[in-house]
Amino acid sequence: GIVLRELTEMIIKNPDISPSETLPDSDPSVFHKRYLKKMRCLGEGHFGKVTLYLYDPANDGTGELVAVKSLKQENGQVPEGWMKEIDILKSLYHINIVKYKGCCTELGGQVVQLIMEYLPLGSLMEYLPKRKVGMPQCLMFAQQICQGMEYLHSKRYIHRDLAARNVLVENEGLVKIGDFGLTKYIPEGEIYYRVREDGDSPVFWYALECLKENKFSFASDIWSFGVTLYEILTRCAHRQGPPDKFREMVQGPKEPMTVMVLIKLLEKQHRLPRPKDCPQELKILMEQCWVVDSAQRPSFKSLIERLEAIRQ
Ligand code: ADP
Ligand code: MG
Repeated sequence: GIVLRELTEMIIKNPDISPSETLPDSDPSVFHKRYLKKMRCLGEGHFGKVTLYLYDPANDGTGELVAVKSLKQENGQVPEGWMKEIDILKSLYHINIVKYKGCCTELGGQVVQLIMEYLPLGSLMEYLPKRKVGMPQCLMFAQQICQGMEYLHSKRYIHRDLAARNVLVENEGLVKIGDFGLTKYIPEGEIYYRVREDGDSPVFWYALECLKENKFSFASDIWSFGVTLYEILTRCAHRQGPPDKFREMVQGPKEPMTVMVLIKLLEKQHRLPRPKDCPQELKILMEQCWVVDSAQRPSFKSLIERLEAIRQ
């Protein structure tokens, strides 16, 4: 009220007083370490870990819950890829993409944490096996993922890690894409991104050309969407996931599963099986996401229409 107005008038009259000094909390995207109260671990992947915090500047328990992502290994300086992930999320605004809230910087910028909105139901991996999720809800989730992905592609980003573990659940009617750790920008006029990757890649979600030539494109996200759809339709059931299913396809149970073996399987036209209650038209749609010729795969725009028709 009064105090803030007087302060504002003071700043207008005296431009030398910077707002950041007089109003310490004027930038809502700056989170201070001392007000972050750790609640519990939410999950971790290969590179990052995500923790639930209460951000409580008033120190009376009235604060807000936020999800805080940090890098697993912190060694001195901030890796370039991590700042890219933060900048990408900061630039995305879509109902089906997790909301960026800000950053918490420590040690003069040597440690940076990403603050996001907290989605209480976790990822599809936690949500789907525990609930009775019918086909209409599965189709709705699938379509929402396509909507978030269509937006991402419209900004010329490829996700490269689309999977049930990276789709977050807000409530029974809304999912959002999270984890932009492998996301890359495809410059205008180019069609793919070539990477030299270590052994930590999510290979069972990768298109054939990603496994063989490290070529990532909009179409390789479509392949990963097909695998994500398979996960949704199996409700992320234990031992039904892509790694287990591909291992089952290998001849001898003793034969180790390698990227070479996976490539051979895919080249022989082996694909993930049809989930139990999966209608024929969905099975066809999934398999079109997995055609070898990437140019023949559907776009997210056409997938949205196809899913809409199936939902009718
Ligand atoms: P990584 O890059 O290490 O894979 P993710 O961003 O995928 O990290 O997060 C790891 C896990 O943490 C997710 O699979 C999910 O279970 C959980 N998680 C991530 N973000 C949120 C969030 N905003 N709200 C709730 N849970 C989250
Ligand atoms: Mg992840």
